[in-house]
Amino acid sequence: MRLLFMGPPGAGKGTQAEMLSGKLDVPQISTGDIFRTNVSQGTELGRTAQRYMDEGEYVPDEVTNEMVRNRLAESDTNLGFVLDGYPRTVDQVETLDGILAELGQALDAVVSLAVDSEELIARLLKRARTSGRSDDTEEVIRHRQEVYLEQTAPLLEIYAERGVLVTVDGLGEVDDVAERILAALPGTGQG
Ligand code: AMP
Repeated sequence: MRLLFMGPPGAGKGTQAEMLSGKLDVPQISTGDIFRTNVSQGTELGRTAQRYMDEGEYVPDEVTNEMVRNRLAESDTNLGFVLDGYPRTVDQVETLDGILAELGQALDAVVSLAVDSEELIARLLKRARTSGRSDDTEEVIRHRQEVYLEQTAPLLEIYAERGVLVTVDGLGEVDDVAERILAALPGTGQG
């Protein structure tokens, strides 16, 4: 099963992608996590990414695309993957299409977690108090929502036209949202 998780910052993508990757026994590939690991290890990629992350901006497409291309070339993705937080721009959609075509693979579904933006800002401010993430200040939180609406929300339309978009209400308890996702997905035994 090859899945993408999309949704505004704070919608719970990471948590749900992790749940699903465990259930399906395929790797979760979170571009945000890979960037954060590189930042904490002080790699060149990390130094490049941090400048953008701290401002709530997207890391440039060529950097992000190259990183995902390398990750998807690893053999643990042969039977599937859950991509979390990628693609986020039209350019990234096109790159992913190319990577998958080269690998002879196709996406089974794109899960869109829908959550009201006021609710999200409240959640993120709460997370900011405990996470210590340097991109969790109120100004950056609001900016990340704007960037999402401008650059990433339009991608939902692209995947809807391809007939692979599954929209799930992301509001509520983690377990309830997880159940909704499983029920909505093709071929997970409950859908
Ligand atoms: P996330 O944990 O998915 O919210 O990602 C944290 C930050 O990493 C984002 O605000 C971006 O700065 C960067 N990032 C993660 N994924 C991408 C992507 N697909 N394209 C560009 N930047 C990304």
